[in-house]
Amino acid sequence: MGKWIVNAAWPYVNTVPHLGTFIHLLCADVYARYLRLKGEDVIAVTGSDEHGTPIEVEAIRKGISPKHLTDEYHSIICALLEKYNIRLDNYTRTESPVHVRFTQEFYRKVYENGYVYTQSVNLPYCPEDQRFLPDRFVEGTCPHCGYEAARGDQCDSCGRVLDPLELIASRCVFCGATPTVKSSTHWFFDLPKFRGKLRTIIQANKQLPENARNFSLRWLEEGLKPRALTRDNKWGIPAPFPGAEGKTIYVWLEAVLGYVSASIEWAEKSGKPEAWKDFWFDKETRNVHFIGKDNIPFHVIIFPALLLATHDDYVLPWQVSSTEFILFDGQKFSKSKRIGIWIDEALNVAPAEYWRYVLIAIRPEARDANFTWRDFETHINTELNDVLGNFVHRTLTFICSHFDSRIPASCELVELDQKLKEELEAAPGRVGLLLDQFQLKGALSAVVDLARVGNQYLSEREPWHLISTDKARTATTLFLAAQLVRTIGILISPFLPETAQRIADQLNVDQVATTQRWSDAGVLDLKPGHVIGRPEPLFHKISTSART
Ligand SMILES: [Zn+2]
Ligand SMILES: [Zn+2]
Repeated sequence: MGKWIVNAAWPYVNTVPHLGTFIHLLCADVYARYLRLKGEDVIAVTGSDEHGTPIEVEAIRKGISPKHLTDEYHSIICALLEKYNIRLDNYTRTESPVHVRFTQEFYRKVYENGYVYTQSVNLPYCPEDQRFLPDRFVEGTCPHCGYEAARGDQCDSCGRVLDPLELIASRCVFCGATPTVKSSTHWFFDLPKFRGKLRTIIQANKQLPENARNFSLRWLEEGLKPRALTRDNKWGIPAPFPGAEGKTIYVWLEAVLGYVSASIEWAEKSGKPEAWKDFWFDKETRNVHFIGKDNIPFHVIIFPALLLATHDDYVLPWQVSSTEFILFDGQKFSKSKRIGIWIDEALNVAPAEYWRYVLIAIRPEARDANFTWRDFETHINTELNDVLGNFVHRTLTFICSHFDSRIPASCELVELDQKLKEELEAAPGRVGLLLDQFQLKGALSAVVDLARVGNQYLSEREPWHLISTDKARTATTLFLAAQLVRTIGILISPFLPETAQRIADQLNVDQVATTQRWSDAGVLDLKPGHVIGRPEPLFHKISTSART
């Protein structure tokens, strides 16, 4: 049994997450469910990322306090995660007292270890609003790619991390005024000290996907710059450095620590306050992160460097499963332009389970994926309904009507049956291998392929004709088809837990998640004579024509 920490990028709660953000939470949920089914020791954690300038901008726009805004979104998101069946061990928030305390202790240590220094810096300052304009309080043209709506901290177009003074034709986001430049003392993290160590770690880590490895090594080649740790904002975690009164820790550099603090909080809540250390300080623990490619610098460079700076021997990210973007009809999701789909609205179109399916089916593992309503419909109607749903339903209704709802006994297997049996027995290994390689999309498609194989088997055998001439062969066919239904029910459960539960109910077997193991899915476990439950269609077709 291995130990795993499964982490998803923390959704930034200036709004309800859209599908492109939500997919990371979903992947963490799928992966943690898979590992638990294998009997691994797992903690899956994440939470709401609440500080920083975009929240303040949004709160000012709404005329409420930032805390009021994040309280509201945090509780909305918790309720939505419930609806989507996202079951993590801890979904917390960066306003949690555990996170605040941990962040301050963490940075005190990094400071004492000599990796923090002060420097007076020039910052954009709005003379109209009389405030400094860090990060997203200022916008302008990206000096690297020319994108005109680049923010002060990062360019959304080329992904580069920016210094707000690098922006061309910058403007205050509150009043549009051209900022002046004013100096302020700030605390810096000495990131360049970790360049050599990081290069060695990244080069040695064979798990990293190509996009994360290439981006990070290129960044190390270009040279690392010290990172400002503090901001002149009130909304955030007070900086714990001597003389830093009135400053807060930069949101990005505290939110990444949430992976650890959420684990601490999980341990405290479970009544074993030290249990988090068994994960974070065990070199054998696999620390897995599901993020978007725009977050690569923080997870492959900055977070590991911060952990190293404590000298505490934390386990570093082992896999950073960084996906490309989901585009919506060819465009990037944009809150301001209302392009995209948000997870609350999505439930008005289709049940959560359908979204879980489609999001993994289009997971942008190698290149950007384009979401269209037409594809959405195809995934649901032809794959989920016609292939998977149909195979389960036709098998179980046949058993119901011709075998008195009992699993029939098998006679000797001939070649066609033997082939199906071999497929079934090999399935947990084959699907599991894809999941072990973080190919969630391929793994899901392999499970649907099993149903496809099942449908072919039934079509070749034609039990609906065979029953009148060869009852023994028909019985064998349905015996095996029912076993395959059970196999599919277990292997689909990380992806579609509700469907898995319904398959288990219809087969009248114990709840998949609690009693079954992944490897059991390759066993012919249903005994002849076992009475199944009542077959019901698992899915229905949908039409999104009104939306296209
Ligand atoms: Zn750019
Ligand atoms: Zn202004």
